[in-house]
Amino acid sequence: MTTPRIRFLLVAALAAVLTITGTPIPTSAAVPQVAQQWASLMHHSLTPSAAYVRVRTTLAAQRASLRTQSARVSKGREAHTAAQAELTTAVAADAAARTSYAVAREGLTSARNRLTLVSQQRPRSGVVVAGAKGAVTAAVQSASTRSVQARKTAVALKAAQSSARTATVTLDRVVAAYQRLTTAIRTNQQRLIALDKSAEFAGQAAAISRDVVTDVRTRFTVADTTTVNGITVHKSVAFTFRRMLADAKADGIVLSGGGFRTKQQQIKLRKVNGCPDVWTAPASSCRVPTAIPGRSLHELGLAIDISSEGRTIGRDSAAFRWLAANAGRYGFVNLPSEAWHWSITGG
Ligand SMILES: [Zn+2]
Repeated sequence: MTTPRIRFLLVAALAAVLTITGTPIPTSAAVPQVAQQWASLMHHSLTPSAAYVRVRTTLAAQRASLRTQSARVSKGREAHTAAQAELTTAVAADAAARTSYAVAREGLTSARNRLTLVSQQRPRSGVVVAGAKGAVTAAVQSASTRSVQARKTAVALKAAQSSARTATVTLDRVVAAYQRLTTAIRTNQQRLIALDKSAEFAGQAAAISRDVVTDVRTRFTVADTTTVNGITVHKSVAFTFRRMLADAKADGIVLSGGGFRTKQQQIKLRKVNGCPDVWTAPASSCRVPTAIPGRSLHELGLAIDISSEGRTIGRDSAAFRWLAANAGRYGFVNLPSEAWHWSITGG
């Protein structure tokens, strides 16, 4: 039921992916061509391109180094804050020491002036002059001590200024590196989205799934089936079904079930499931919905009744929830009236 335009796009897309990966899936001459196309599309949907894998690997490495870079920024900020605090302390200590030194020098000037004054006084008092001399000596000593202190605080200030500059430069550098990395990650995230063709391929496969059923039905033989984890399915769905079971298992959901059944088994099932008759009554009229023999996708290995934890799954099961969220990626659709029945068309 595909239009010529869609068929052209499918063939073109198929040719493109086959050229890129160079690993077409093994096909059987007995498997109809549309089914092969479907299988190939699903294979490519579930097999990321080399470019995609490369970008994904790069992105993972970049995300890891972003964590390292983020730690560097935090460390840089801490060092910067500490250096600024040290600088503030050094500026205050330097100002205080210089003020002290200036006060001491003023004291020295006053003491000298007083000595001059008392030395010139007549009558000259020896005791007063000696006192003034003592005051000058003390003032000299005090000015000298405070000068040394002021020089020390000036050196400390210079060191603090240098540390603060270094901390600022370091912080700017690590922040810039962090931002560069963030930009690179954003770019690669966009590239990854652009390179992710899985939904596109799965969509193309879904678009031909009804044609697959038609094609398979016209030339089906049991030789076209194979088993996946003990479940017999049509070869065209084996790869994607196996992947679905494996990925579900990785998520803690163990799926099993029944796939292919012969027409004879379908006839038997119609009787077992209490259908009003074998050949005409609708599936919905049976106690358990059961397709008319010759119409069931089970007879082509294109439908699977899923069970989990030893019983047929219902809508309230974890397995159903997992399938509802993920089965589409593997080309499987649920038949709404039967929670357990999944096929490539939902039929
Ligand atoms: Zn079924």
